[in-house]
Amino acid sequence: MSRIPFVAGNWKMNKTASETGPFVAEMLGLGLPDGVDVAVCPPYTSLHAAVAASQGSNLCVFAQNMHEQPRGAFTGEISAAMLLDLDVDGVLLGHSERRQYFNETDEVLNMKVAAAHAAGLQVILCVGELESQHEAGQTEEVLRRQVETALDGLGDERIAMTTIAYEPVWAIGTGRTATPEMAQEAHAFIRSLLPAEARDQVRIQYGGSMKPENAAELLNEPDIDGGLIGGASLAAGQFAAIVAAAV
Ligand code: PEP
Repeated sequence: MSRIPFVAGNWKMNKTASETGPFVAEMLGLGLPDGVDVAVCPPYTSLHAAVAASQGSNLCVFAQNMHEQPRGAFTGEISAAMLLDLDVDGVLLGHSERRQYFNETDEVLNMKVAAAHAAGLQVILCVGELESQHEAGQTEEVLRRQVETALDGLGDERIAMTTIAYEPVWAIGTGRTATPEMAQEAHAFIRSLLPAEARDQVRIQYGGSMKPENAAELLNEPDIDGGLIGGASLAAGQFAAIVAAAV
């Protein structure tokens, strides 16, 4: 089954609302090729500017997080309805920085994934092992727990619509990248965890120091369906080169 590649840029806590419009315009000026889905994930305060600047293009806008409850006394949090009201297309959930610094658990992520789908948002669910787990040979055990818990009870149709980003934590922002063979092995393992009815449709992105120099060989692997890009998504030219490598 051929899946449309999907490349998303996770800006993390970078780019103000004022910087976002000109940056998206620069990206669009470089062109979005056919045959690949592309998204940016700006911080909450820049979502409106990104949606406005991407009007009339195929560029999608994703938030970097979302609360699992629809409303209520959750100071500082943002709901699915608030994202939809801004015309945001989707949400990134379970990034390792959210897990590490904000104590996001697989159980909470399960609620977030379900709430995002129920609201009609697209979902990128991030999974990946820590360096210590990698070295202890626990990668598959960790991936199994993360994937199975976060997708528990979701149903085949919604699982099929979920994008999974495999991001070995030791490769994020470090300049160390999993070899294409290692990444392919992890992606194939993640795919094997999915229900048969959804397995071939789920797009699995690789994330972790993907750059124009290493993107093509990673994206060439049969189970690597795109990339989740951190640092290199902050420069329009570098991001465009990765997007071009995905076609
Ligand atoms: C990320 O934060 O999702 C990421 C992949 O970062 P980087 O590309 O900088 O390693």
